[in-house]
Formats: sequence, C-alpha cells, structure tokens
Amino acid sequence: MSPTITEVDVYDIRFPTSEQLDGSDAMNPDPDYSAAYVVLSTDSPTGLAGYGLCFTIGRGNDVVAAAIKTLRPYVVGRTVDSVTGDLGAFYRLLTHDSQLRWLGPEKGVMHMAAGAVVNAAWDLAARQAGRPVWELLAGMTPEQLVDLVDFRYLSDALTRDEALEILRRAEPGRAERAELLRRRGYPAYTTEPGWLGYEDEKLTRLAKEAVTAGFTQIKLKVGADLDDDLRRMRLAREAVGPDIRIAVDANQRWDVAEAVEWMRALAPFDPYWIEEPTSPDDVLAHAAVRAGQPIRVATGEHVANRVVFKQLLQAGAVDFVQIDAARVAGVNENVAILLLAAKFGVPVCPHAGGVGLCELVQHLSMFDFVAVSGTWDDRVIEYVPHLHEHFTDPVVMRDGRYQAPDAPGFSARMLPATLTDYRYPDGPVWVARQELTR
Ligand SMILES: [Mg+2]
Repeated sequence: MSPTITEVDVYDIRFPTSEQLDGSDAMNPDPDYSAAYVVLSTDSPTGLAGYGLCFTIGRGNDVVAAAIKTLRPYVVGRTVDSVTGDLGAFYRLLTHDSQLRWLGPEKGVMHMAAGAVVNAAWDLAARQAGRPVWELLAGMTPEQLVDLVDFRYLSDALTRDEALEILRRAEPGRAERAELLRRRGYPAYTTEPGWLGYEDEKLTRLAKEAVTAGFTQIKLKVGADLDDDLRRMRLAREAVGPDIRIAVDANQRWDVAEAVEWMRALAPFDPYWIEEPTSPDDVLAHAAVRAGQPIRVATGEHVANRVVFKQLLQAGAVDFVQIDAARVAGVNENVAILLLAAKFGVPVCPHAGGVGLCELVQHLSMFDFVAVSGTWDDRVIEYVPHLHEHFTDPVVMRDGRYQAPDAPGFSARMLPATLTDYRYPDGPVWVARQELTR
C-alpha cells in the first residue's frame, strides 16, 4: 500500500553571505543567499520524504515560504503514488488553482512556490524509485515525457507531436550517453572569480585558480562602471590567456543603447556571452541588443515561465537559454523549456550558484544530454563553490565538470544542523548577528 503525505513543512533558511560580498553584482550588491525549503513528509516506516527549495537572496524569503504553505491542501492527505504516478497532473494542479493563479498567472512568487513543491515531489518520486532525478527522467518513454508538459500557450512554436519527434530522435543513443556522462561528467564554468565586490587581486588569483582546476570558462559581473569593467576584463583576460572563455553578466542593469555601447567597448577582450543585459521580460530589447553588438546574448535565470522562453526563441533574441531549476514551476516546466530550446537548436547553459541551484539543475542538463538535445557541445552548467556543505548529497566537481549524481533524489536535501542553525530569524547564527549589531 502506498504511504500518505502527512505534512508540508516549510523553513525560512538564510545564510549571511553579504558579509563576504559573495554573490555581489551590479544590481544585487549585498545578497544573503536563502532558501524557502520544503519537506513533504510521509507516514512510510522507511522515513521516505521529498525535499525541495526556492532560492531567494534574503528579504522576501518569508513571502515565498508563505506562498508554499498555501499549496498545502493539494498535498497533505494524498497518497505518494497518486502524486509520483502522474507528476504531469500534479504540476498542472499546483499551477492552475483558479484563485491562486490570479497572483500570476504562472509567474512570480506563487509560481516559484509551486516550483518548490513540484521539485520536492520529483525528489520524492526519485527516492521512491531509488534513482537520481536525471536517471529517472532519462528512463521515461517519449510519451511519458510529453505528458509532463503543459502545451497550452506553446503550440504555435512546439506541438506535442514535434516534442515526441525530438525525444524519439534522441532515444537510440540514450544508454551510450548515460555511460559517457557517468564516466566523464558534464561540462561546467565558474563564476567564482567574477563577483563585482571582489578586489582586483582576488579576481586575478581566482581566475588563475579556475584554469588550474580544469575550467575552460569563467564569468565576470559587469555593468556598474565601464572603466572598472574594462580594467577587470583586461586583468581577467591576462590571467587566463586567449583560449579560456570569459562570459560577462550585467544582471539586468542596462537599457538597450547602454548595453550596445558597453558591449562594443568590451568586445576587444572577446567576451563569450553577455548575460541578462536588460529586463528579463523584454523580449524585443534582447533582440535589439543581439542585433546591435557583436557578442552573443544569454538570459533566463529571471525568465518567469515557458511562454517568455518561447518568445525569446521565436524572436531570435537569445544565443543561450539559461534555465533555472527553482524559478519556473519545477521539473515539468523545465522539460518544456528544454524541448523548446531543442526545437530552435539553441544551447541550454543553466543558471546555478545561490544555494542548492547547482545541486538541482545538474540533473536537468544531464537529462537533456541523455534524452533531449543529445549533445553537450556549447553547453556548460554554471558553478559557484559556496554553501554545498549544507547538503546531504552535494555536487561533485572534477576537472571542471559536474560528476553525475548516483544518490537517489534531486540532491537538494539539507543537513538537519543547517535547518537549526540558519533558520531566520531565530536560529543561533542570526541571533548572534542581532546581538552584534545591538
Ligand atoms: Mg546571472
């Protein structure tokens, strides 16, 4: 008999990362990396549970946590099998509550909250199956995979039949690619050297260390001051040499004309892509930036849903699609976005970092490699070294590549001590800080 889901526990977990300026960029000078963390408990005697999270950068983490709690009636009291046996239906249920949908639709806090619960359900399903999420997905038939997707609003760009065709085309090589993945790992790049708040010496040192560690791409935050960016870009280029890719990320800082001018100025240093040049909602502005300067355009970490990704692709506005595991409504919506990207032949280079995002998103790229695009050419997952020590199954990097997880689940389960120590505002880490400032 299937166990029953007995509770949705939500935790407001925050890390005081602003103290080191880790994560600082042109729009977010002092982030405290945070997670609205969710646990789906069951009455299984084995202790079976599902773990998921939303990433935020501090204030507002409580708002996301409250949004997750509004979804409780859809989860508590249901059998595990009724959820994990039809994750497509579960995702549609959470994203289409007629009253909650008013807050979006399918965007913003409520959508992120649905994503956390959907991802927790995927974690639950993978633990139940004894497999990592990437393997669970890559073991599904094309028909099962398209059933995960909500094709509403997509069919002018991607029909169910076209999605089936993409998945069937990739079917013959699945086992071989899964084997290759287990042996070699998935390519990554690191943002560690490039935070805007870091001194030049730290930037140069970390850039060199990244190359030594096996990375073939690094990323620099830009967009606050052009003279600073020219100097930092020159230092980074000198540090890594001509053969290492240097992507740059403006975190939505510019209007179109400014983006064009800025990137023309940085172009002599051969940046690999310009990420988030402007508002993530502005499809036409991305197209204009792409047309107006020579550097390729990437975006996606703040793109609200599959519909905006569809438009970015239809408008020819992006060269790289940057999915995020915890921004849209979980695995299901990201499967839709992977299929859209495959249809348009645009490589997916996921956003990660924060807390738990590397752990989650590696599964989606690995699934894409095995069962959707069938390639890792021109594809890299972002990597940032912070906060992995808080997870029971942290990412494993070797030679600049994510090693394929083999533990069952979605890799986003936090350690019990973390949930106690970093709980906001009453965990000991935060209580100590309040005493310091008193
Ligand atoms: Mg970014």
